Amino acid sequence: QYLDKIEQKNGELNAYTCVTADTALAAAKKVDEKLARGEALGPVEGVPMTLKANISTKGLETDCCSKILEGYKPVYDAAVWQNLQEQGAVLLGKCNMDEFAMGSSCETSCHGGAKNPHDTSKVAGGSSGGAASAVAGGLAAYGIGSDTGGSIRQPASFCGIVGLKPTYGAVSRFGLIAYASSFDQIGPLTTCVEDAARLFDVIAKKDPRDSTCTGAHCSALSALQNSLKGKKIGIPAEYFDGLRESVQTALDKAGEVYKALGAELVPISIPEIKYALPVYYILACAEASSNLGRYDGIRYGMKAEHYTGVNDMIEKTRSAGFGKEVKHRILLGTYVLSAGYYDAYYKKAQLLRRKIRRAFQSAFEKCDLLLAPTVPMTAFPQGFSGQDAVETYQTDICTVPVNIVGLPALSVPCGTDESGMPVGMQLIGNAGCEDVILNAAFQYE
Ligand code: GLN
Repeated sequence: QYLDKIEQKNGELNAYTCVTADTALAAAKKVDEKLARGEALGPVEGVPMTLKANISTKGLETDCCSKILEGYKPVYDAAVWQNLQEQGAVLLGKCNMDEFAMGSSCETSCHGGAKNPHDTSKVAGGSSGGAASAVAGGLAAYGIGSDTGGSIRQPASFCGIVGLKPTYGAVSRFGLIAYASSFDQIGPLTTCVEDAARLFDVIAKKDPRDSTCTGAHCSALSALQNSLKGKKIGIPAEYFDGLRESVQTALDKAGEVYKALGAELVPISIPEIKYALPVYYILACAEASSNLGRYDGIRYGMKAEHYTGVNDMIEKTRSAGFGKEVKHRILLGTYVLSAGYYDAYYKKAQLLRRKIRRAFQSAFEKCDLLLAPTVPMTAFPQGFSGQDAVETYQTDICTVPVNIVGLPALSVPCGTDESGMPVGMQLIGNAGCEDVILNAAFQYE
């Protein structure tokens, strides 16, 4: 059924960049046989799903939607996919994304952007736009994406689905093609909160191959029936600056729902949020410029055809292989890391990162979780992001703070704007407390 849906709708949505129909059917058949033998199935067994194009799949193209990785087939599976595969997940194909996960609209993809199933003149969001479009359009039961500065939550918000960014270190990054290693985190995109909790329990496993990976510190699914009576939900004022009216109205209504569920809304201020965007774009670009140094035409993917020597080959490969946004960020990253500017930008941003972390710590002394918008607006029209990079970066204002400090956050649909486009509400938890935000989202849902 999912393959039929892909056949019918992928031409319009551009959610998948490759479809693995044969292996999906073979995997599904195995599960069918198991069912016929009357054997019980695990939580993800036989469920058709999709992976973002930056998650390594052995023998299957993993191009990060970049020309420079055209034809690159990893020789190993990412930990998250290995784990899901062992549990009988059925992979339908790989999904579209912004090139190297850099973007907020999916339009920096070398395959063109994914469209929003609610209105195909609008973007699906980014960077995991393909997975969000596939899940919202009924082309997969769930997707696995990555979130460096909002790439799971923002497209989930734009497409009206649930997206969870776990605590940094909960899910192994082994085999996730790195954008900014100290921010990147893998998580699920689903149609409901229960699925997100189920998947979190499955994928958040300790892995010695990722030295930052500790696995989960809570069990999510079993927490979904906890009452919210007496729980304190912080409303951080800084997240509510400059919201579209429809987003504000939807969030106000969500607050009322929580009050009716017995929670107490507590006004909170985190003034350090004003540093979040510059800190994120300085540090993420610095890490990206280093991580992307490996694409030299020798080790992976494409290589320039005509060149005079090694340096010329590398220069020609990188000039032709990387798109404009990626080049922009590599330049910004090398600039802030260069001698003479390091102290003024990189070091200062690292110091501010610590300051923002402390600010969140003191916020969580006053409340159990935070409620905020996921994005100040709903899905933007195609073409908006290409016009002004800085204006696009500003739309990440509500999603980047938790990546800077490593906290878990999710986006859950909470209404629509005047034209019927989905609005997302963001719930932010303390480190290791995915159970708290998933339960709060479940009670709302
Ligand atoms: N939009 C943000 C960026 O462009 C976030 C991307 C992400 O989370 N991968 O960097």
